[in-house]
Amino acid sequence: MNVLFDLNVVLDFFLNRSPWAADAAGVWQAHKDGLIRASISSAGLPTLFYVMRYTLRLLTLDQLSRAATLICALELERIKDPKKLGPWPFEIGLWVGKAATPNRMGAKGARDATPARAKTIAFHNDDRKPSPIPLEDCPWCGTKFTRLSFRLLPDPDYPTDLRVGCANKRCEFSRDRHLPILGVDEPIYRRLPCFMIATVDKFAAMPWTGQVGAFFGRVDRYDAGGFYGPCDPGVGQRLPVGVQPLGCLPGEAEGGAG
Ligand SMILES: [Zn+2]
Repeated sequence: MNVLFDLNVVLDFFLNRSPWAADAAGVWQAHKDGLIRASISSAGLPTLFYVMRYTLRLLTLDQLSRAATLICALELERIKDPKKLGPWPFEIGLWVGKAATPNRMGAKGARDATPARAKTIAFHNDDRKPSPIPLEDCPWCGTKFTRLSFRLLPDPDYPTDLRVGCANKRCEFSRDRHLPILGVDEPIYRRLPCFMIATVDKFAAMPWTGQVGAFFGRVDRYDAGGFYGPCDPGVGQRLPVGVQPLGCLPGEAEGGAG
């Protein structure tokens, strides 16, 4: 009997994806035993190679590390000639699920341990804990990040940015010059990096995430901290923890989806 395997069945088997791995192994064994003759679509071959070669996490982080080096080089060129290359920095964003990066900055008083502030403070106190964003080395010079590499700005109690700096004082991204890397969703929505590494679940959630309207140009002003839409409080007008401007989400979501 000829059977055309859905690619997911093959991935369930090779990646041991629960809860389907056992069933997938059964049909795979049937193919090996000659009970069935299995095929997959030729279009699925490159996908199969790509997914099996890299796990999602490795793929994302490997891409981030390589692309960050490129963005560092671009940013240094821009700094040399901002008249030609523009006043806004070249930056790279890592826009992925909160298991890999913090999605919110967080603020003093919040009990949640997942925002960037809580993760950064935990790493400052004990560098055996995971760093706030999943990068271990400076993408420009290769120096390992230390607990002092991650800074909550402008105010550690109510940060709007998590900036990463290099511990190597000879590196061009040390001292007051941060690496052009954004690893938290909130600064990404505000600073709109020119290059983003993202997972597909983020794209799938775009209609429900009002802030992504900014990716599509729904901003009407900017300052040194980033770009703002009509509903953003802007710098110096911070809202209390957990409070969102009313009435903005549907409009921005429609703008983003459109
Ligand atoms: Zn460095």
